Amino acid sequence: MPIYEYKCNACGHEFEALVPMSAKKAPSCPGCGSAKVKKLISVIASNTSGCSSCTSSSCSSCSPKGGFS
Ligand SMILES: [Zn+2]
Repeated sequence: MPIYEYKCNACGHEFEALVPMSAKKAPSCPGCGSAKVKKLISVIASNTSGCSSCTSSSCSSCSPKGGFS
């Protein structure tokens, strides 16, 4: 079950919630009970290779291994 981060539009409370894959609705705010919550982009490091300052292969610090020589 993935954990999502939500922010309540009503009171600004941020919280994490375990949401089953089958769930279509966002959870309600545990602080004020409002259903007006916004899902935040989860910050999961899926690609930690290379440097963080660029995404192109022209960067010398993150050029592909076994590339041009
Ligand atoms: Zn709230």
